[in-house]
Amino acid sequence: MATYEYRCPRDGDFEVRLPLGEAGATLSCPACQGRAARVWSAPGLARTPRALGAALDGAARSAETPEVVSRIPGGRPAVAAPAHPARARLPRL
Ligand SMILES: [Zn+2]
Repeated sequence: MATYEYRCPRDGDFEVRLPLGEAGATLSCPACQGRAARVWSAPGLARTPRALGAALDGAARSAETPEVVSRIPGGRPAVAAPAHPARARLPRL
């Protein structure tokens, strides 16, 4: 038995388990009975989510050539400390 993937234009992808070599180019969709086309994909390979891939690429790039920054990336803007009343009595420069 092997797992085959089909794509219905209306209901999306679904998988069926069939004996080897018995998967046709099309199959009827279990939801709408419409014609679903076989999808060819690499077996046993999981796709990395786009956000995770970008984060891993960024981490690898940063390990090789770290980016020089002048502020915290994505951090909150710096908030000035509230003025203390005693500072008004300090001599001006
Ligand atoms: Zn369908």
